[in-house]
Amino acid sequence: MRLRLRLQSQYLLFISIMLSVSILILTSLLMWYNNQASQQVRHASINVMSQGLMVQVKERGKSIVSALAENLVNPFYHYEMESIHGLINNALTNSDVTSVVMFDANGQIQHDGTVLIERFGQSMADADMLATLTFGGDYISQQKNGHLISTHAIRIGDKLLGGVSVTLSLDTVQDNLIKMNAELQNIAQSSTQRQMMIATTVAGVQLVIGLLLGIMLARYMVKPIKQLVLAANRIGEGDYQYRLTMRRCDELGELAVAFNNMNCNLAEHEREISHIAHHDPLTLLPNRLQLNKQLKQAITESRKHNLLMALMLIDLDDFKQVNDTLGHDIGDLLLQQVAERIDHELRGSQDMVTGGDAFKSTSTKTLSRMGGDEFTVLVQGLAHGRDAASVAKRIIHSLQSPFCIDDHLITISASIGITLSPRDGENIRVLLKNADLAMYHAKYQGKNSYAFFNPQLTHKIESFTKTKQELRSALNNGEFELYFQPQVRLDTESVIGAEALIRWQHPTRGWVSPDEFIPIAEECGLIGPIGDWVLDSACRQLQSWRYRQGFPIHIGVNLSAYQLVDGQLQQKLASYLTRYSIDPSSLHLEVTETMLIKDEKGAVRALESLHDMGFPIWLDDFGTGYSSLSHLQRFPLAGIKIDRQFVKNLHLSERDRNLSQVLVTLGSTLGLDVIAEGVENLEQAQLLQRWGCPYGQGYLFFKPMPAIEFEAVLINLSNNAEKAVKSGINQASIGSSGPIS
Ligand code: C2E
Ligand code: CA
Ligand code: CA
Repeated sequence: MRLRLRLQSQYLLFISIMLSVSILILTSLLMWYNNQASQQVRHASINVMSQGLMVQVKERGKSIVSALAENLVNPFYHYEMESIHGLINNALTNSDVTSVVMFDANGQIQHDGTVLIERFGQSMADADMLATLTFGGDYISQQKNGHLISTHAIRIGDKLLGGVSVTLSLDTVQDNLIKMNAELQNIAQSSTQRQMMIATTVAGVQLVIGLLLGIMLARYMVKPIKQLVLAANRIGEGDYQYRLTMRRCDELGELAVAFNNMNCNLAEHEREISHIAHHDPLTLLPNRLQLNKQLKQAITESRKHNLLMALMLIDLDDFKQVNDTLGHDIGDLLLQQVAERIDHELRGSQDMVTGGDAFKSTSTKTLSRMGGDEFTVLVQGLAHGRDAASVAKRIIHSLQSPFCIDDHLITISASIGITLSPRDGENIRVLLKNADLAMYHAKYQGKNSYAFFNPQLTHKIESFTKTKQELRSALNNGEFELYFQPQVRLDTESVIGAEALIRWQHPTRGWVSPDEFIPIAEECGLIGPIGDWVLDSACRQLQSWRYRQGFPIHIGVNLSAYQLVDGQLQQKLASYLTRYSIDPSSLHLEVTETMLIKDEKGAVRALESLHDMGFPIWLDDFGTGYSSLSHLQRFPLAGIKIDRQFVKNLHLSERDRNLSQVLVTLGSTLGLDVIAEGVENLEQAQLLQRWGCPYGQGYLFFKPMPAIEFEAVLINLSNNAEKAVKSGINQASIGSSGPIS
């Protein structure tokens, strides 16, 4: 395992090592110098001492040998052996005198102090010494093998008789020197020991002081660093409120200030980043991330206070169309205005929700943008589910008046899906999915409405999705067919034309109503190719009937909003006119008010160009929706089709009767043709005719039928007409006139 040393420990270890090493070096140097010095002193002392002792010994040797030489002059001259022997032995009595030798001028020993004169006649080895004596020197001293040999000449007058050498032992001197050396060594040793003790004490004290200083220094340096590390960790954990309280005027103090500043900036940036991350840049509303947070919190709160909450998913109807026709910039502006309007409405309706007392104060409705044209409203603290419905209604209502953006008057509606919690679920993902399903259901019901989630919706939406997929292959597989519903003059019942109505022969489900699949085709963009197919087929039929069979009739085709704003419609229609050599007046184009009011200016432009090309334009389903007089005046219309919902109760309800009459009169007054749709009985037909409605369409006359049957109807009517002409009886005919019986 790797040892992890903290900064303080590292610091202390470093100081300790440095101090120990420096003390060790200093002490060693001191000791070495001290040792050297004491050795030099000892040597010098011994030298001085030995020189002094040698001088003493030499002096003594000189005095002994001088006295002996003087005493031996006569006995040597006279050769008195006994005296000589006496004198030499007398000298030998000195303890330090080891030998005495008397020799003649030739250097031969004459007496050595022994009784038998054992060395008699032996030659003195030293010729140099003899030469010195011969040439006048009296005294010579020599040091040899630890002895001092002092020699003195023996003369009578100037005549050299010989000499005497006294050998003194230097042992005493050596002993003294050894003793002294030992003494000096003892002194040096005890001095070294004392110095060692002093040095050790000083080193110890230094070490302790050094360590104390190190600790203080380390604490002084390390403590703030530790504080900085703590601050960095707290910041790392996201605590941007943490502040360092370090009052220092050095770099560490500056670092602390910088840290605090950095934390302030980070807190600010964090707030900004968090705001950006949790809000939609276009509408500035909370985004999906924020909604998830709020939902989580709301679910907990609702559970805690046992209250109902609602999640609403708002999806703008046909928003794609706005983007496609007016561009994304206008689309963005519309989204901003829609957000503002809904937000404003929600603030105004804040009082609508009443919750339990505990929760009332925090009762809120929060609008968020999920992305694209999808918004959500989270309503907390609901007392009843119906409160959510009233919020939804107010939102839908708030969008009703058109939005004015860059000179465009845009109308947009919304479909709202509502899910309640805890009733439908207590999980964010589940609630969002429920709201989504409910929203699709609202769209499926005809848009511009709201729907609550219920478990059966899942199945419905699944089949919706399945239909979407199946529609894609339907066109390629030739599963579509055009049916034709004849339109007749109410007075004569003569067929003036037909409305082309699409049919889908589903491989397993059989006939599928256009009311079911057209909205889905619009939703997924398949309405483009399907609409093209309808136009192409209708034009082909026109060609066939008009030129091959010679029937002067028209075909009415339902246009979808997407076809109108496509921008290609005019071009496509022009190509059909050429391809099938048909007259534009025989192709009636049916549009609804709801299609036109999304972008009235654009719609007027598109319709005017179609009108200029010669196509009669009919306003379908008139009486439902807006039924605006100004629309009738602004759009270049050939006629209006009174909706079948109106005609349905015409003979039963006075209100519907009056309204229908007004609509018929309105159309006629404005110089427009009028077709009443869904005429199912004679009573309806007669009333309509009485009010001046010229044309009708409905099961009373004909149901929608395949082309071949319609052709048969035309042939049949034409034959009947011929017969009638021949027999003079007035019968229903093509283009002929006559009252409805
Ligand atoms: P619409 O344009 O209002 O078409 C008339 C609808 O009324 C047709 O329903 C027709 O069958 C039905 N109808 C006619 N006479 C009577 C009657 O006496 N009583 C009743 N109860 N109904 C009658 P259909 O064919 O189911 O079409 C429904 C809608 O689907 C149409 O309403 C139209 O909006 C749309 N649609 C049909 N074909 C096309 C098409 O080719 N393109 C587009 N974009 N939409 C189409
Ligand atoms: Ca129609
Ligand atoms: Ca209609």
